[in-house]
Amino acid sequence: MLVEQVWTDNNYRNFNYLIACPETGEATAIDPLAYDQCLAVAKDKGWEITQILNTHHHHDHIGGNPAMVKATGAKVLAHANASDDIPDMDIGLNAGDVVKIGKTVELECLDTPGHTMSHMCLLSRTDVPALFSGDTMFNAGAGNCTGGGHPEALYDTFVSQLAKLSDATLIYPGHDYISNNLNFTLDREPDNARALSLKAEVEGQDTNNAMVTSLGLEREINTFFRLRNPSVIARLREAFPDLPDQPDEKTVFLKLRELRNDW
Ligand SMILES: [Zn+2]
Ligand SMILES: [Zn+2]
Repeated sequence: MLVEQVWTDNNYRNFNYLIACPETGEATAIDPLAYDQCLAVAKDKGWEITQILNTHHHHDHIGGNPAMVKATGAKVLAHANASDDIPDMDIGLNAGDVVKIGKTVELECLDTPGHTMSHMCLLSRTDVPALFSGDTMFNAGAGNCTGGGHPEALYDTFVSQLAKLSDATLIYPGHDYISNNLNFTLDREPDNARALSLKAEVEGQDTNNAMVTSLGLEREINTFFRLRNPSVIARLREAFPDLPDQPDEKTVFLKLRELRNDW
């Protein structure tokens, strides 16, 4: 599986992706808002974009579809329930569906509600495991739920799907938020040494060649995976004095998500 992360350099800090089959050169564009940049990368690599895969319907993810379809004739794939919100959708995807790219790449569709209620993450199991996580999960963070999502659904997605992936899984999110998210981690867990050292590593990094984290690293530096951490819970109690002695993971997640909204 060949992956090109395309930094859009826009105000939303979107990452777009091209995933290609090394044997056939067929490529799928994930959320190609910067369609011109994606087309330029494909041309440079000698790839043919045959599919567009939208993780969800927000404009900064589907806004490049019409121009990309016009330029390539690519089919538009997205969550089956997003068809009312994605006007040019060709194929609706359901949990467990497998999207093939050329001969060698297969992406499994994970139905991951929370940021929106019709959000797909794509999981490659063909060589190095990799997750294209859209706006469900970011480096060191979780998606917000203010654009049609639900925090309880996001929690379920985190515990029942994302947390179960292997530590080696590479994380390819829909936005570059790592610096700010690490600040949130350190605000919630000031003694997280790994978050502190990672912050120094990524500060001022070239976003055209951004660090790719793994799920194993996320477990260390992403507060939304650290729901039993004593420091996280102690800090949370300062904001929510009624928090029980042994709060359950769901309560911790929901309170963290609530704090992050105004942080
Ligand atoms: Zn979104
Ligand atoms: Zn987005």
